[in-house]
Amino acid sequence: MNTKILDGPALWPAQAHVPSVLGRQLVIERGEGSYIYTAAGQKLFDGTAGLWHANIGHSHPDLAAAARAQMLKLETYHIFARFVNDQALALADRLAAMSPIADPKLILNSGGSDAIDVACKLARRHWQRAGRTTKSVILSREFAYHGLHAYGTSIAGLEFNREGYGTESLVPETRRVPVDDVDALKAVIAEIGPENIAGIVTEPIQGTGGVNPPPPGYLQTVQQLCRDNDILFMLDEVITGFGRTGSMFAAERYGLQPDLITFAKGVTSGYAPLGGVIVAPHVWQPFYVDDDATPVFRHGATYAGHATSCAVAMANLDILERHGLVSRTAELETLLRAQLDQLSAKHSSVVDVRVGGFLGGVSLSDDVRAESVADKLIDIGFISRPLRGNTLQISPPFITTDGELVRFVDAISQVLSEEESA
Ligand code: PMP
Repeated sequence: MNTKILDGPALWPAQAHVPSVLGRQLVIERGEGSYIYTAAGQKLFDGTAGLWHANIGHSHPDLAAAARAQMLKLETYHIFARFVNDQALALADRLAAMSPIADPKLILNSGGSDAIDVACKLARRHWQRAGRTTKSVILSREFAYHGLHAYGTSIAGLEFNREGYGTESLVPETRRVPVDDVDALKAVIAEIGPENIAGIVTEPIQGTGGVNPPPPGYLQTVQQLCRDNDILFMLDEVITGFGRTGSMFAAERYGLQPDLITFAKGVTSGYAPLGGVIVAPHVWQPFYVDDDATPVFRHGATYAGHATSCAVAMANLDILERHGLVSRTAELETLLRAQLDQLSAKHSSVVDVRVGGFLGGVSLSDDVRAESVADKLIDIGFISRPLRGNTLQISPPFITTDGELVRFVDAISQVLSEEESA
């Protein structure tokens, strides 16, 4: 084994095998609409919307104006105890009005991993409060990604995200179930006992796990199993929330009524860090009982309900609404499906294509590596990303034109042709 220590910029690269990225990092310094520009001057089509977040595209002046105006008025003020700020109140009202859960309360924090930690804590706290103190196990699915804070790490369905942190001891009483398999889920519930299970967390369409839309009826069956067994049904809409699947939330697309919904990314299109949890009445009401003995939900952070992030979210929602971007993703889904079907028909190296909303995955055969396809796409001006299962991620901004999407899939086709003949 080589023992040479590498050096490089002071910034430790995130989620990276350091020796593989040092010296070849792409320094992004500008963005405009669906494109980003490197410090070296290369223009790249953002075919992943960054980490599935830049839904309205990059560098929109309205969001910059909203942030500037809010910072000049009040950057933020915390929302602990009697304090609150007007922006957090206004955003929560707006999110409540558009929520698939009727009459919810909103918890606002800084991102998706935060939202997952809060949702899981709240699920356990909910059952404690209800006097059903053994209900603590959190179930999640194989290949799931729920961020990388403590709960997110422990409930991760991608094993490499769990390894090395005390696999069973970081957050105890967590358990993965096989993906898309109702009978296996039933067996796990029976084995652990519903009296010991607090909730199940699931992405409606798995993202980082390879873009895996659910089999027909699967999510509805999981929801019913939750209802039958007093298990909280927690939908992680960090990727799917705010329009990615052709409705504001995937819960609407699949006709679901979760107890908790986590969201982040699309609420601000990434212009400011913000995430949160939408909480159903039967979960929030016990903490709102008009009595001295009512418990406090002990969770919060300095940036919970950050006023500037909330102001930016409002401007982002205005743009989604004003430009009809949610219905536009439904059109883009149809085009993406047609394009990927053609790609699949044309290339022997494409073993599977999956589409759920404006969200696509292209799985490749073993002889063509998604990593190397993604690298070659960058060379010709397009960003995709390798995901689990030798899969390419396709999730451009909602403002993508038909022509841009066709050119993106053509570029993938060009690289695949080169790789197949190599
Ligand atoms: N849940 C899902 C489904 C995600 O895709 C992500 C991030 N990709 C997270 C949670 C974590 O969000 P964040 O990175 O904002 O903490």
